[in-house]
Amino acid sequence: MTSSFSNLSLAEPLAPAVAEMGYETMTPIQEQAIPVVLQGKDVMGAAQTGTGKTAAFSLPLLQRMLKHENTSTSPARHPVRALVLLPTRELAIQVADQVKLYAKHTNLRSTVVFGGMDMKPQTLELKKGVEVLVATPGRLLDHIEAKNTVLNQVEYVVLDEADRMLDIGFLPDLQRILSYLPKQRITLLFSATFSPEIKRLASSYLQDPVTIEVARSNATASTVEQHFYSVGADDKRRALHQILKARGMKQAFVFVNSKLGSRAWPAHWSVKASKPPRCTATKARTSV
Ligand code: AMP
Repeated sequence: MTSSFSNLSLAEPLAPAVAEMGYETMTPIQEQAIPVVLQGKDVMGAAQTGTGKTAAFSLPLLQRMLKHENTSTSPARHPVRALVLLPTRELAIQVADQVKLYAKHTNLRSTVVFGGMDMKPQTLELKKGVEVLVATPGRLLDHIEAKNTVLNQVEYVVLDEADRMLDIGFLPDLQRILSYLPKQRITLLFSATFSPEIKRLASSYLQDPVTIEVARSNATASTVEQHFYSVGADDKRRALHQILKARGMKQAFVFVNSKLGSRAWPAHWSVKASKPPRCTATKARTSV
């Protein structure tokens, strides 16, 4: 049975933010991770985007950081206390947006830095002082080297989508960033899988972590019938056409991995390509 946020006794400024988001019951990762993070333990969580893991780590971290909350305009009174690392600009923006919403009734500040854009606006934000810094590893290192931020008061680190960070080749950057942080800290690692590389990362940087695993939120419903066809790349479209025809399907949703891919369907198919909100796949709606 899932429990309600009201059972959690979230602090005064956080509870209304959660209510305003329309959340009532906790997702499984929230139910398991929030109490553990509130207790100040390291966590190794197997959870993907879409499971509610951002709130699972943000809410307890914000709650723990409330003791530092202040309205001073001095940057020195707003050092980075929590660092959240993510592999891509899109994920970093998504997480930073959510953190801002959860923290909206607090005086805790947050910002996001990522590569591929001018450093100046990010530098201005960093220099004002922020308690929560959401970042992609490469750009964070640029800011550290430029002395735009100091991480010697970090108390919490979140390695989010850790498997993807390793896939992209961020391990050396992560190692460097982690070497700048105080040893006395709480570290949370989230990954879709616990591969040997992830376990190695965890054993180097986490202390006695509590392991939390939740079912994939996108596991297929038992009512969905699945078939697998092994077809060469050049035959895929023809094969799909045949399958749809053979089954007499008048309409179908076809998910492809790029916008370009969706344009390659036969001209007599009506194809609309659009980016679904939290999915990297491009959706093509086809009528055959
Ligand atoms: P995340 O996995 O953290 O990216 O969250 C996925 C989506 O679920 C986001 O749009 C959140 O706003 C939403 N969400 C997170 N927790 C809850 C909850 N307990 N109830 C309803 N929606 C939620």
